Amino acid sequence: MKKILYIDMDNVLVDFQSGLNKVGDATKRAYKGHLDDIPGLFGLMEPMPGAIEALHRIAEHYDCYILSTAPWANPSAWADKVRWVTTHLDDLFHKKLIIIHHKELLYGEYLIDDRPKNGAKEFRGKWIQFGSPEFPDWTAVEDYLCQPYHPSVTMWQ
Ligand SMILES: [Mg+2]
Repeated sequence: MKKILYIDMDNVLVDFQSGLNKVGDATKRAYKGHLDDIPGLFGLMEPMPGAIEALHRIAEHYDCYILSTAPWANPSAWADKVRWVTTHLDDLFHKKLIIIHHKELLYGEYLIDDRPKNGAKEFRGKWIQFGSPEFPDWTAVEDYLCQPYHPSVTMWQ
């Protein structure tokens, strides 16, 4: 049975700044201090470099789910995230998108996340901190997860 692996979206799978770059200055001024509440913002973001290719390879070895948090005050973000996943990842994550503010509730082997927020730090498997010195990019993550003898965290056996 494949081990369960969760992948965060913002600044892991999607490039948050690339979405902001497509938003006009007037809108940015109106949402100053809470830019993630800009309607439609999450549909504008580009994939992080190498993310799509790496995920296709990783998904051959792991049971993968996207585990993301959407801003509570921006309902369009919730819909934008579903649309983003189906647009950029075809059917790879069909009905495998979980949007939640409590990532610690999920069980599984790995969580790839850039920040400790929303329960990532309390996740009971191994937290792969994307952007850290150990895992600076998708090449490093893929090398770690797909090597033949990677260290295993077996919390749920
Ligand atoms: Mg993130």
